Amino acid sequence: MAQNSDDMGEQRTQQATQQQPKGKKQGAKTVAPAAATGATGGPGAGATRDNRFVQELADQDDYSRWYLDVVYKADLADLSPVRGCMVIRPYGYALWENMQRLLDDRIKATGHENLYFPLFIPYSFLEREAEHVAGFAPEVALVTRAGGEELEEPLVVRPSSETIIGYMYAQWVHSYRDLPLLYNQWANVVRWEKRTRPFLRTTEFLWQEGHTVHRTEAEAEAETLMILENVYQDFVEKELAMPVIAGLKSESERFAGALRTYSIEGMMGDGKALQAATSHNLGQNFATSFGIRFQDADGENKTAWTTSWGASTRLIGGLIMTHGDASGLRMPPRVAPIQAVIVPIWRKDPEREAVAALVSEVEAALRQAGVRVRADWREERPGYKFNDWELRGVPVRIEIGPRDAQNGQVTLVPRTDRTAKEAVAKESVAQRVRALLEEIQQTLYDQALAFRQRRTYSASDYESFKRLFADRATLGFVEAWWCGNAVCEAQIKAETQATIRNLPLAQRQQQPGACVHCGKPGTAWAVFAKAY
Ligand SMILES: [Zn+2]
Repeated sequence: MAQNSDDMGEQRTQQATQQQPKGKKQGAKTVAPAAATGATGGPGAGATRDNRFVQELADQDDYSRWYLDVVYKADLADLSPVRGCMVIRPYGYALWENMQRLLDDRIKATGHENLYFPLFIPYSFLEREAEHVAGFAPEVALVTRAGGEELEEPLVVRPSSETIIGYMYAQWVHSYRDLPLLYNQWANVVRWEKRTRPFLRTTEFLWQEGHTVHRTEAEAEAETLMILENVYQDFVEKELAMPVIAGLKSESERFAGALRTYSIEGMMGDGKALQAATSHNLGQNFATSFGIRFQDADGENKTAWTTSWGASTRLIGGLIMTHGDASGLRMPPRVAPIQAVIVPIWRKDPEREAVAALVSEVEAALRQAGVRVRADWREERPGYKFNDWELRGVPVRIEIGPRDAQNGQVTLVPRTDRTAKEAVAKESVAQRVRALLEEIQQTLYDQALAFRQRRTYSASDYESFKRLFADRATLGFVEAWWCGNAVCEAQIKAETQATIRNLPLAQRQQQPGACVHCGKPGTAWAVFAKAY
């Protein structure tokens, strides 16, 4: 692992050598000196064995450290021996599978079918679309040698599949009757990144890429927007409980080779933006380069219109940073790998028997009701287990002790409010847990939306605009009029590090004001933010 010198590696090394104690944490009664909670792993004087790993979680004030701590300590991912790549561990992969299934359902429900293309693309394919190759060339991985000899033509490890898919579509599309072509693939892609962070930016990542062909520009545009709003926004807001803003990207942020790029943008817990998914109207650029032509109803041969759209494992990073708190992850119930965890509590053996009987009964009832449940019988103290499952963000904890067993009841504790304990009769546990999971899903969304609203400002003068981005306590989204000029946009970025996230589809109806930077007439209402 010594050769791993990217961000993921450095941060992990730091984490092992300079653990920060958590003082402000509930349950952390005393503050352990930094030296006491070291790489040797022994809990310090103030850290009990039960809350040790929560104490070790970096404070959210050091947001990037906190993020890495959560990713690694909750066992979502681990470093890989390959620079910039990550290993997704079972808990992280189960989360991805749940997300994948719910997104895939929406993709299919809107008429798309899945297929699969090769990992390798002939380099010449990339060169056929000038803007595309210029955009991707710096970050492609090339295979020049295989089977013991130099390849006649280098192969690109796909950074995205527009070109190879365009090549095949040209052979599949002949008539207007073949259209629209609505396909999607789930795959891995490789983009050689210099600075990487697990889930947010990795050299290899998992995603889906949809690729469609249409008769007219209007149809392609309708598809692009339908995917953005009805598929991506709906999925991210309902299943991941992440409120997002849907809008058009400025020219400078357009996908290489696209006519128009749209995105959904969410606000993370530190006030920065995360682009959660993109949808591109590719116009006729790729269709022209690859000869996707069809005979229209009027007998004329025409060039088709194409779209592409993608969402990736980056969404996991977005989920962590939208909902996580000082104790770790908070999983939205709809995608949580484990929705409810049962923690049995007992002291003596006879107690254990009674508790075990009720645990089995409750576990079976929950499973029957479709709840993803796990009973934690590890040889650890209950306090340790509480902290451990809180770190992993399990939405509902179910405590079952001897008195509960005697009374035929359990105690429910929601991850979103650990003071809101409630006793529930065993007969109604399944029903109550299902309702509670829905309440938690809604609470997470409401809290994220309230946070975004608190951290969203309008600015009409550049001084206040700059001030908002200079202060970490106010960092968030700033809405303002913009003149539409790329030079002006670049100057704003150079001076404040803030970029135009998008021009929201819900544009302000009022009279445009002056551009917040140059004072010229505004042409678009834009959302500015520092971004991941
Ligand atoms: Zn301007």
